[in-house]
Amino acid sequence: MRELTKWPRTDANLILITEILLMSAFLKMNAIDSVLQAREFGHYIQAGAFPVSSHIAFLYTGYSSEFLEFGERACWWFHIIGILAFMNYLPYSKHFHILLAFPNTYYSNLEKKGRLTDMENVNREVQLMLDPSVVLPEPSASMPTKFGAKDVTDLTWKQLMDAYSCTECGRCTSECPANQTGKMLSPRKIMMDTRDRLEEVGRGIDKQGKDFTDGKSMFDYVTEEELWACTSCNACVNACPVNIDPLSIIIDLRRFLVMEESKVPSELGGMFSRIENNGAPWQFAQADRAKWAETN
Ligand code: SF4
Ligand code: SF4
Repeated sequence: MRELTKWPRTDANLILITEILLMSAFLKMNAIDSVLQAREFGHYIQAGAFPVSSHIAFLYTGYSSEFLEFGERACWWFHIIGILAFMNYLPYSKHFHILLAFPNTYYSNLEKKGRLTDMENVNREVQLMLDPSVVLPEPSASMPTKFGAKDVTDLTWKQLMDAYSCTECGRCTSECPANQTGKMLSPRKIMMDTRDRLEEVGRGIDKQGKDFTDGKSMFDYVTEEELWACTSCNACVNACPVNIDPLSIIIDLRRFLVMEESKVPSELGGMFSRIENNGAPWQFAQADRAKWAETN
């Protein structure tokens, strides 16, 4: 919950209060409307039932029709102006998800969970190493020039849309085994950090143009301890109601650490060198691999 302090908490409270006020005005408007319709006052003709707000109509039966008409109009204007003002607030708020949830779900990754994205530049190198005679097409212009992601500018548009679609509901963090066992990792925080950094970069680009740089990166928001606490189990992806994929961002940040910075936890460092030397993560030479079958 440490990520739900300061602005995220204020934002959530602002949204809640605004929605309570707007919906109250709406219900009150319809309740008064039903009273005025029953009295056939002015232009309030019978126009159908109000299945919810008619239950509170009794609160307004003791007032004059002129006073109720003023109240009904006041609620109508409050609601419509409130909605239009609230729409302007959405892009600055986590509530932006009400606009992005549908497109984000439409573009969600339908591959089997656990299948990692291919790295075109690595794939190419491996093919050339395994068979130097292979003829590969020229590298595409879209081929990334670095491994993994250091900053939001290295993430895909879908990963950035994920960040803007997050409702901060915390289902992912509740399901995360790393979080449940007291580790630093919270997939919700990964999404919130991505959005915070994206907005910081966006403000910088607005001021200094597209070559903006401030010497910062995603690693000023997300620590290595958080990244390596992830077990890649996909529970967060499964739990998200709008198919957000925090794991793909974690994997891309880890790829940058491993392949660009050679930063790996010591346990993994040993495994990597054994794979390099023995072709397997275990401490046995390839020649000894079948020996287990010889012992009775
Ligand atoms: S994939 Fe990583 S972040 Fe997501 S639930 Fe599993 S351990 Fe947590
Ligand atoms: S479950 Fe999805 S929407 Fe909810 S906090 Fe996690 S990433 Fe955001």
